[in-house]
Amino acid sequence: MTNPLPSIIALDGPAASGKSTVGRRLADALGYLFFDTGIMYRAVTWIALNHDMDLNDENVITQMAQSAQIDIRQPSQDDGRACDIVVGDKDITWDVRSGDVDANVSLVSAYAGVRKALSEQQRRIGMRGKVVMVGRDIGTVVLPEADLKVYMDASAEERARRRYTEITTRGEQADYDEILKKMIERDRIDSTRAVAPLRPADDALVLNTDKLSEEQVLTRILEMCR
Ligand code: C5P
Repeated sequence: MTNPLPSIIALDGPAASGKSTVGRRLADALGYLFFDTGIMYRAVTWIALNHDMDLNDENVITQMAQSAQIDIRQPSQDDGRACDIVVGDKDITWDVRSGDVDANVSLVSAYAGVRKALSEQQRRIGMRGKVVMVGRDIGTVVLPEADLKVYMDASAEERARRRYTEITTRGEQADYDEILKKMIERDRIDSTRAVAPLRPADDALVLNTDKLSEEQVLTRILEMCR
């Protein structure tokens, strides 16, 4: 008898470890829902910046996160997006990837109240099953009962190189050293925060992707599933 496929799959790891790309392909291969939780923290950060809120004011940011209406919809355009991210009537799909959001998202996502508000929503969706959920704390906090937990890792240099290629392939300018510096800083804040820090769950399978192609990573994870 073959084992059933894992229904709840948690994919965690640092910035640009390839979680989202592989997670999306994995979900497609299994016919599961793909949920990238980083989008929610990014959207809350974008709202704070867009409304000139004081990002150091935990109460103000938490209250906003509790009432924020972040809509994640099927992609309306064929421009590389996995989904539309809409706040009010504004499409912020690409705005949440801006340098400003990158630079501030770790501050906002370290607030306990923000995490509580967002992770409750994530948990509700994840517990329905047949889901690949991607983030930093999915295996440890959001869905500790996940059937399969994978922690994708890679050296900071390799991750910065991938991010650099991704940006320049889109035809935009990028500075490798700057990307590396900011990525190391974001990982430092994410892994040292008091609430739900970035770390592999005790029962996670750790996959170092430094020397693996996207295809090879996907194959490895599909093997873990089976
Ligand atoms: O995955 P992504 O790089 O889009 O995540 C952006 C930021 O959101 C992370 O650097 C982290 O601060 C936060 N995040 C988090 N917990 C998650 C997902 C993302 O704290 N589950």
